[in-house]
Amino acid sequence: TRPNSLHAADIAHSMHPYTNMRLHEEKGPMIMTHGDGARVYDSEGKEYIEALAGLWSVAVGFSETRLADAAYEQLKKLPYYHTFAHKSHEPSIRLAEKLVEMTPEGLNRVFFTNSGSEANDTVVKMAWFLNNGLGRPEKKKFLARTKGYHGITIASGSLTGLAGNHTDFDLPAIPVTHLTTPSYWRYSNEGETEAEFTARLLKELEDTIISEGPETIAGFIGEPVMGAGGVMTPPEGYWPGVAEICAKYDILLVADEVINGFGRTGARWGCEKYGFTPDILVTSKQLTSSYMPLAAIVVNDKVYNAIADNTAKLGTFGHGFTGSGHPVACAVGLENLAIIEEQDLMGNAERLAPLLQDGLRQFADHPLVGEVRGTGLIAGVEFAKDGRESFTPAGSMAPKVVAFCAEEGLIVRAVYETVAFCPPLIVTEEDITEIVARFGRALDKALDWAKAEGLV
Ligand code: PLP
Repeated sequence: TRPNSLHAADIAHSMHPYTNMRLHEEKGPMIMTHGDGARVYDSEGKEYIEALAGLWSVAVGFSETRLADAAYEQLKKLPYYHTFAHKSHEPSIRLAEKLVEMTPEGLNRVFFTNSGSEANDTVVKMAWFLNNGLGRPEKKKFLARTKGYHGITIASGSLTGLAGNHTDFDLPAIPVTHLTTPSYWRYSNEGETEAEFTARLLKELEDTIISEGPETIAGFIGEPVMGAGGVMTPPEGYWPGVAEICAKYDILLVADEVINGFGRTGARWGCEKYGFTPDILVTSKQLTSSYMPLAAIVVNDKVYNAIADNTAKLGTFGHGFTGSGHPVACAVGLENLAIIEEQDLMGNAERLAPLLQDGLRQFADHPLVGEVRGTGLIAGVEFAKDGRESFTPAGSMAPKVVAFCAEEGLIVRAVYETVAFCPPLIVTEEDITEIVARFGRALDKALDWAKAEGLV
């Protein structure tokens, strides 16, 4: 009934991802009209701090005209060309070169896709193609983690370890085993130290490899810090241990850095933060600040050479997208990375991390809060009663808090019982102070509501 025809048209014609569509028919959309730095504005003129950077992705904020100019210049020069069958163009060449420069030593070749999901599907197919070429087609399975998020296409959605992405889609559709989520607070046994927890998870990994047969396992994929599964930071020693076991059994180690990359964790890459070097690194989101859709897979020489040898045998790698290395997306990516470097946005994330992390940790003893965790400019506040038992119905508290945050002019995201924070890398001290203050006010409102409901 709002006098906004866009509102009515959205209800009438749009199908939204990750949405209860019947509820949407009643509620309608929140229509965003423009952005300014870390802030966005809706069609009613309300201002929000976008403390999730859109979908964990807008590093340079919502009003960077340099990216608009880069897109426009490229659109005028060569708006589209593909990269199939020996064709190339300057933006994709330069961006691949830049990514090799910016990724850890040893990662030397880049394959572009349009999205993180397509990138992870491509990784699966690369692993299969490579193993077929090496005469071991049975080396096909993937290991991933419960609560990991790797996308929603058939293969990447199979790697994802969240029930909501599997239930009613008949996934996983590829052979994948999901291992325990590396969250000490949530999944440790009573009395277990962090070191013992890490050791248990590493034993689970090695036991799984041995019981399934190393000759059947192609790869292990994980986000250094899990994002959509609830901002799970790994326990001490976990990643070096995983890397060692993968190397021992000749299993490709894939770091899904779609959220973690470009300074998000306070280091350049999550894998650098946690002390391991993957065979394959996947990046997207902050690669272009999501101004254009783009993802990249960066592989080491071992992976490249095995794939390249097989293409020499077969004549081709029968895989690629119309938009692989899209010139406009790559031009925007290059400009975005230039801004990240010139303005030292990764350094900004590292410098401002304590303000966000300590700011949120002051709520650790709040009656609704179970754990506050995070690193760099990514954080999660998980709701729980005493101990780690969720409020009932499970999964209901975080969305409630998110709604109160929106009232306060703060956009954050509920990922199950956790509210996630992942602000643009351009945030200032004042922005973070304001994020924490608005969140505090929303928590107060949530507590009043919870008391009225008899939940606390
Ligand atoms: N991998 C991770 C870690 C992600 O967080 C996401 C998206 O949120 C994806 C992959 C999938 O990316 P896309 O939504 O671009 O397909």
